[in-house]
Amino acid sequence: MSDFTLTFLGTGTSLGIPMIGCDCEVCSSLDPRDNRTRASIYCETPECVWGVDAGPDFRAQALRENIRRMDAMLFTHAHTDHVMGFDDLRPFCFGGRKLPIYASAETMETIQRSFAFAFVDDPRSLGYLRPVPNIVEGPFTLGETVITPLPVPHGRVTTFGYLFTRGGRKLAAYLSDCKAVPPAVMAEIAGVDTVILDALRYKEHGTHMSVAEALAVAAEVGARQTWFTHLSHDLGHAELERTLPSGVGIAYDGLKLCL
Ligand SMILES: [Zn+2]
Ligand SMILES: [Zn+2]
Ligand SMILES: [Zn+2]
Repeated sequence: MSDFTLTFLGTGTSLGIPMIGCDCEVCSSLDPRDNRTRASIYCETPECVWGVDAGPDFRAQALRENIRRMDAMLFTHAHTDHVMGFDDLRPFCFGGRKLPIYASAETMETIQRSFAFAFVDDPRSLGYLRPVPNIVEGPFTLGETVITPLPVPHGRVTTFGYLFTRGGRKLAAYLSDCKAVPPAVMAEIAGVDTVILDALRYKEHGTHMSVAEALAVAAEVGARQTWFTHLSHDLGHAELERTLPSGVGIAYDGLKLCL
């Protein structure tokens, strides 16, 4: 019996697919899997639920997936495609509820600067967002899930991937927005059931893994299943899928994994 469900709210890169003004084959594709909103996931367990990142598409994603509850929010990093839906978390604070948010010190600093208005705890701001910052420096728990931060390089910033462990079982590692997976993170996620990896495009990129780089990481991790996310319009779902080895799949918006 699965008691951990992971839903891909979005699987696209910062510009989304289709990209504004682009007529390429992928942006004009009729395959719904080629329609990608900005990267984010939603995790459900019997005790509590949480999201990872709230980009500019968060509101539409939450409506699409009929999300009615959010006990906490985790952030990978503070690039706009991961945080610009922050204020759309307001409905989860109705009735004066507070929303714990988790991020690295670097990411939290940027979130608090970008959304300074949300961090003023004023009783008159009823109906507004009431975030409670938690700076992540090591593993923490939400309900019965142990969540381990996985620092990965992403250009000028460090992204936190997250490893989700329940009952001693490493269920899933979410590694969006990274150029590489360093040895310490490889060791941390060894034996994980499911790994989700940044795979931006075929061509190399300065801050994201290419398909070839993500495939090399997938082979090294050797998880039961690997899913690619944060795709750009260089990658058409059906075309890329035909070239992937067994056990490696391409996530798409709305895909649910029961782990
Ligand atoms: Zn991103
Ligand atoms: Zn395009
Ligand atoms: Zn980024």
